[in-house]
Amino acid sequence: MRGYGGRILHVDVTTGRNRVEPVSEAMARSLLGGNGFAARLLLDAVPAGVDAYDPANAVVFAVGPVTDTVVPGNSRACVASKSPLTGLFFDSTFGGRFPATMKRTGFDAIVIEGCAAEPVYLKVTEAGAELVPARSLWGRSTRDTVQAIQAVEGADTDVMAIGPAGEHLVRFAAMGTYWKNREGFAGRGGIAAVLGSKRVKAVTVSGTRKTELADAASMKKLLEERREPLMTGTKALTTYGTPFLVKPINTLGALGSFNLRRETFADAFAISGEEMHAHHHARDTTCLKCPVACGKQYEIREGELQGLRAKMPEYETIFAFGSMLGNAHSASLTRANDLCDLLGMDTISMGVTLAFACEAIERGWLSEREVGVPFGWGDWRGMLRLIEMTATREGFGNRLADGAWRLAESTHPDATRLVYAVKRLELPAHSARALKGMSIGYATASRGGSHHDTRPTPQYAPGYDRRSPDGKPEFAVRSQHFTAVDDSLVLCRFTSERGFGLYVDEPYTRMVRAVTGWDMGVDELERVGERVINLERLFNTREGTRRKDDVLPWRVMHEPIPDGPSAGMHCPPDELDMMLDRYYALRGWDADGVPTPERLGALGL
Ligand code: SF4
Repeated sequence: MRGYGGRILHVDVTTGRNRVEPVSEAMARSLLGGNGFAARLLLDAVPAGVDAYDPANAVVFAVGPVTDTVVPGNSRACVASKSPLTGLFFDSTFGGRFPATMKRTGFDAIVIEGCAAEPVYLKVTEAGAELVPARSLWGRSTRDTVQAIQAVEGADTDVMAIGPAGEHLVRFAAMGTYWKNREGFAGRGGIAAVLGSKRVKAVTVSGTRKTELADAASMKKLLEERREPLMTGTKALTTYGTPFLVKPINTLGALGSFNLRRETFADAFAISGEEMHAHHHARDTTCLKCPVACGKQYEIREGELQGLRAKMPEYETIFAFGSMLGNAHSASLTRANDLCDLLGMDTISMGVTLAFACEAIERGWLSEREVGVPFGWGDWRGMLRLIEMTATREGFGNRLADGAWRLAESTHPDATRLVYAVKRLELPAHSARALKGMSIGYATASRGGSHHDTRPTPQYAPGYDRRSPDGKPEFAVRSQHFTAVDDSLVLCRFTSERGFGLYVDEPYTRMVRAVTGWDMGVDELERVGERVINLERLFNTREGTRRKDDVLPWRVMHEPIPDGPSAGMHCPPDELDMMLDRYYALRGWDADGVPTPERLGALGL
């Protein structure tokens, strides 16, 4: 099969035993790879109802047919598990160089199960996997760990490592890979904590296998045709990175601030991409073979944090540590981001959890004595200290480490009403109130509060009716199919959306044909997306997810945006109900949100 290594590696870290499973053409064509393979493998491997930290839970790393080809943004992989934050199916994608190197091992997926007796790192080569003792690495940061392992294994080996937060089972622990030109982080859903529970400090990959294309000439033609839209569409990303979004989204009245009490932030300019670029930009960084270079390294040249050199905080991070906390100290955003990267934590969940804590303190539901450090709106010093405490579960950090929802449950009987989360996953910076497509999108997302299930991008386009619920269930279904296909190919979302389109369409079928040789039409490719969504839903319904869980944060359903250009917008329960009815009907699920045997049969599941 062109486009595939053709093998899946299963590793039991309790015993070190390896098993190699061939990838059939039927599996590849029906699920593509990445997200699709991970959904199938997890549904088969993880028994229903097990705790995320049970050795029976699995972590799957998966690449796709497009990984390590010539398509811009191809060095992208998916890591998936049952999430300790949501208790449901979860996948997170990341870039850098690791994904391309993993493809060169000849394994399309690596399934990690069991629990090692001592800390180890998992060394994966073309020959399989071995466990390497890693006691000396336990407690070290993600970057130190990557550097220490590369010093032993060589610079051509790529390493994905967890930090102290993963070891301390922080429910939103992240993992990171470092390469001289660009880092990659799989942040969301706490999958790094699942690796921590297995005492796996890192996974390394090295190999030399090449991914051959079925039709290189057709691929060349496709890429030539798409070069202009790709480079035009990513101009702002190339110049500023994702922080370019701060200004336009604030202007729309859709930038959550002060724990979502408002959706404008008066100090947005101070934390905008333009302003931070002017003061902090040091150099551009890019994933392997990507012409966009949306990554930036910042250098803080003045003030208390002078001398700090670190990765630029992404738009979502600026929202979480900036506007949501009422914090306009831009250098502190870079420091908070850097701390989260090194300690291994998701910035969205960390910031939104702190935003809840801020409001709870203001209401007197949490006392300063409980929190242990001075903290309130705009207090960036308190923010930085609490981030450090969370990673090692020190003091109040022990409660923050369980995420906003669990913290709220232990705070006050009404406190979960203040939490900006769906299915216990804290929401990112694309408004659930001001973008009606995100309302139904978040409510039905397999992951919960993720903007990579249903995409906000089309909803920001001029002419898109973001205010009306009409047509939004149809939009969410189509967008979810697109993200499932995109994450199965696996492609970077920025290069794919801007270069090849926002929905499953002809450019993607041409891409699949050029890589694999399969004559796949748009409908067949769209059905791949639908199949992946149904596999994820099957995983979640097996864990008990039903219509009652497809809800939005209380504030989104009951408190209209108070002022600004989106004033009055929210998604009341009856409107959500109406959209859910339509959404389930489109999906062929029953009224409780459970996939029907008829629809599953039609999808070959
Ligand atoms: S657009 Fe950015 S994140 Fe995507 S592959 Fe290129 S450098 Fe990496």
